[in-house]
Amino acid sequence: MHISSHFDSGNIEVHDLSNPQHPLLAMRKDLNSPHYQWFHFKAEDLTPGQRYDFSITNAGGSAYHWAWSGYNAAASYDQKTWFRVPSTYADGTLSFGLEVEQAQIWFAYFEPYSRERHDWLIDQALFKADAELFACGKSIEGRDIQLLRISRNPHAQSKVWIIAQQHPGEHMAEWFMEGLIERLKLRDDAELDALLSKADLYLVPNANPDGAYRGHLRTNAAGKDLNRAWQSANEAESPEVFFIQQQMRKVGVDLFLDIHGDEEIPHVFTAACEGNPGYTPRIATLENHFRQRLVANGAEFQTRYGYPRSEPGKANMTLACNAVGEEFDCLAFTIEMPFKDHDDSPNPQTGWDGKRSKQLAKDVLSVTASMVDELR
Ligand SMILES: [Zn+2]
Repeated sequence: MHISSHFDSGNIEVHDLSNPQHPLLAMRKDLNSPHYQWFHFKAEDLTPGQRYDFSITNAGGSAYHWAWSGYNAAASYDQKTWFRVPSTYADGTLSFGLEVEQAQIWFAYFEPYSRERHDWLIDQALFKADAELFACGKSIEGRDIQLLRISRNPHAQSKVWIIAQQHPGEHMAEWFMEGLIERLKLRDDAELDALLSKADLYLVPNANPDGAYRGHLRTNAAGKDLNRAWQSANEAESPEVFFIQQQMRKVGVDLFLDIHGDEEIPHVFTAACEGNPGYTPRIATLENHFRQRLVANGAEFQTRYGYPRSEPGKANMTLACNAVGEEFDCLAFTIEMPFKDHDDSPNPQTGWDGKRSKQLAKDVLSVTASMVDELR
């Protein structure tokens, strides 16, 4: 048995391999931060047909330790097909095991979206979906933060912004972006044509590439939670947000979607701007329409479960959704997908996964198309 995590988005430490059928492991903290919850590792030199059990013994100290109950780890033999492994959480330890079919297996908190696939996705957008590289920011460690624009009508008035993976362990967010770009590659899509006749799309497929590469849950390489930096973004500590804000101020924003994953709640849901000082009935109506249409559209989405609503005027303005909604007086949502499953239509084999994230993105595009005339 050999365990490794020295690869893109890898994260695990081996504490005790003295029983090779039951290694004791721990998650590494995000750099310069106390947060951790993401894991991703490879186990090899296994004997097919034999059972192995893995225990992550520091799960009880993780950022959302109460979220482990009801969670099942993701596993893959080939890094392409991912499935869930029954997992238990007790006494601060997350445990999962199975009788392996092959000599190597990968485990992760969620089906990972690699930097290699990110590069492929940018190429697909540029060469198959008529996107242009509108601007390119740099992370603290010098990784590219591509801002793509899809503009098919020079007279389009609306600016639709969708950004993803500010929280780097929330890999479902870039799967969502792949779903968007997959749909943008299609021809003969009347809804999309209607949307793009009136709106330009501005997409940031990965807003926190350093954190994603390093196997972080929550922060960039400076230990900053980017989705708490929208009132204080600066080039030294949060250049990722600083870049996106600069570009938004050049272009304007009529709709903003910030794509995330939630550790605890087994449902797809949105969080919105009801606590903003500048919240108006107009924005409330737009929020309701967007949510109702997602449900009516048959999307894997619901409105019953989610975060507690903010009191009027009490929103946390350091969040992207609230900051952008307030500054541009526009419809703005955080879209949250589960690490667990969408319990309205559960799939025990896969849980929530990349494929379902991609489909949600396509449904969101349909709803956006249906609302493009209402945004102003
Ligand atoms: Zn998040």
